Amino acid sequence: LVSRKKQSNDTVVDVKGVKVGGGTPVLVGGPCSVESYEQVKEVANNHNAKGLKLLRGGAFKPRTSPYDFQGLGLKGLEILKQVAAENDLAVISEIVSPADVELATKYIDVIQIGARNMQNFELLKAVGSVNHPVLLKRGMSATIEEFIFAAEYIVSKGNTNVILCERGIRTYEKATRNTLDISAVPILKQETHLPVLVDVTHSTGRKDLILPTAKAALAIGADGVMVEVHPDPATALSDANQQLDIPQFNDFLEKLDQSGLFK
Ligand code: PEP
Ligand code: MN
Repeated sequence: LVSRKKQSNDTVVDVKGVKVGGGTPVLVGGPCSVESYEQVKEVANNHNAKGLKLLRGGAFKPRTSPYDFQGLGLKGLEILKQVAAENDLAVISEIVSPADVELATKYIDVIQIGARNMQNFELLKAVGSVNHPVLLKRGMSATIEEFIFAAEYIVSKGNTNVILCERGIRTYEKATRNTLDISAVPILKQETHLPVLVDVTHSTGRKDLILPTAKAALAIGADGVMVEVHPDPATALSDANQQLDIPQFNDFLEKLDQSGLFK
């Protein structure tokens, strides 16, 4: 169903009026984790000032260590909902349990499936059974074929509102957190009709690579990029060293605008 052979025209996913995959690239920005109303509000205010509409933030965090901050859970979704309503933004957040999917549709605009859950088939079926847009991230050790099959799980249940997200894969290379598989973008665009985003933050884990990788993503045909931004990254409860602060984020936006690729 997700194959280009089945559908030649691009799927455009409507996220509260923002068209993802419609030819105009989108920018998704926000903190790694939702930590407080004030924290999300600060990012949202900046989004408003910069004309951005898509805000991300994790409420259910799939952390490597059980002793690390696990997210605010439902409280986090409530914060996102409130901030979205006050600022006319659309919010994206990860859901990790099939039992939370139905509830999540009442709070957020896009359900994210994280890399660690790309092959959680019960979760894929659960998000396939609602009508909400889904942002599906590539598993860190998933082949492109497995990634496409994961999308197929969702669409085969009836939900065609799927956005793919390349977020880097595990390789032997240690200079970056993951290895951004940039060629996955045109391959996914050729083989499927779904929109493709690139998460430049988790793929690189390096602030100095956000701008060049975002440019590369847009130049190679991505429908948008995802970036982590936090009002005070040093105090962040997750991914403290890879998040941009707001001035750095705005500088990034300005340089991306100047590149002529983001229009
Ligand atoms: C995230 O985007 O919040 C995240 C945890 O990323 P990933 O699932 O790609 O590791
Ligand atoms: Mn993160």
